[in-house]
Amino acid sequence: MKAEIVAVGTELLMGETQDTNSSWLGTRLPELGLELEWVTIVGDDIGRLTEALERAWGRSGVIITIGGLGPTLDDVTRDAIAKMLGEEMSVAPELKTWLEENFSRRNIRPMPQSNLRQARMIPSATAILNAMGTAPSWWIERDGKILVTLPGPPRELMNMWTTEVVPRLKERLPGQAIVSRTFKTIGLSEAALDELVRDVYDIPGMDLGVYTKPDGIHVRAIAKAPVEAEAVRVLERAEAAIRSALGAYIWGTGEESPPEKVGELLRERGYTLAVVESCTGGMLGAAITDVPGASDYFVGGTIAYTTGLKLMAGVPSEVIDGSGAVSAETAQAMASAACTTYGADCGIGVTGVAGPGDVDGIKAGTVFIGVAVPGSAGVEPYAFPSRRPLVRGRAVTAALLQLTRALQRP
Ligand code: AMP
Ligand code: MG
Repeated sequence: MKAEIVAVGTELLMGETQDTNSSWLGTRLPELGLELEWVTIVGDDIGRLTEALERAWGRSGVIITIGGLGPTLDDVTRDAIAKMLGEEMSVAPELKTWLEENFSRRNIRPMPQSNLRQARMIPSATAILNAMGTAPSWWIERDGKILVTLPGPPRELMNMWTTEVVPRLKERLPGQAIVSRTFKTIGLSEAALDELVRDVYDIPGMDLGVYTKPDGIHVRAIAKAPVEAEAVRVLERAEAAIRSALGAYIWGTGEESPPEKVGELLRERGYTLAVVESCTGGMLGAAITDVPGASDYFVGGTIAYTTGLKLMAGVPSEVIDGSGAVSAETAQAMASAACTTYGADCGIGVTGVAGPGDVDGIKAGTVFIGVAVPGSAGVEPYAFPSRRPLVRGRAVTAALLQLTRALQRP
């Protein structure tokens, strides 16, 4: 079934507010079996909005409008829908009462006259009350189509979508089971990865999405079938193909995150961790401390950006003089220094060239990560894509994954 979003608001066109609601909905429509084909952004203008709605009504089975449900005269979504459908609006007494009670609960008496605009209905609409605001939504079913109006404020929209709209849509949409799984990879370029999973695209009922994220490249496998058991079988077939194509480049699935994994392992083993990080500039420490309860195992560390600070953190000057600040030896020494200087069982050292330019003949994106755990120490070189934010993000993920592997080694 084809779906379409009409996002309403001049502020969206002016770039003052970003249309985050459409993106949010866009990620949630596939699991309902809805294919989003159009997103139209239109200003607070009844003529243009009616035109956009007419076009949507003509070509899509499910139409979702966002915003323009407020009490003020510039909010004209209801007016435009009534016009498009050729129906008359009138104030619904039960909505008027609901709104008046809503205001009196908040000690606003009498209710501003303008809010009566929000109590208007058309014959083919039923009202969905808004638990978080005053704007009730319209749920319209006519001519085999569904149109629903969602409020603009993201919190209200999300709540209304999840609690009210999804259950109604599920009841009405033809049975289609959709199951999906995300595989998180690191170390491959998007193009190289795409090449490796080429065959998976051909599995019937399978959709693949490849997304570049700060923690690596994610592959989302979406399987569709009339019944769930069949969709699960398609997904399992795809998973086997993806795992055999990508092997060790996959570091996790679903909602798994490297800092959480590291936290679990450290806690299990009763180890503490400290870091000495250079090119990540504190992002590694930030990622580790993002996890609630990190104080159980994370000691702290330094952002040792300059050579002076690397020395102060305990990196021997011979190592930096002999091998350079961006080198495997220095990364290794930073990891050991993290342990000895800060009295931790495990240490991570990160040094590299974040880019965009090369430094002293070392290519942007070159990062060395040293990891020390009780009984073993190792260092690995990386060549990340040379965009600064990517280099730093990938280095954080790589460092945490390297520690994960070191902790998991028997
Ligand atoms: P409205 O219902 O049009 O008066 O919008 C109420 C609030 O929601 C305003 O602060 C808007 O900026 C915000 N809003 C409206 N549409 C969107 C959208 N598509 N994405 C994010 N915020 C929005
Ligand atoms: Mg508006």
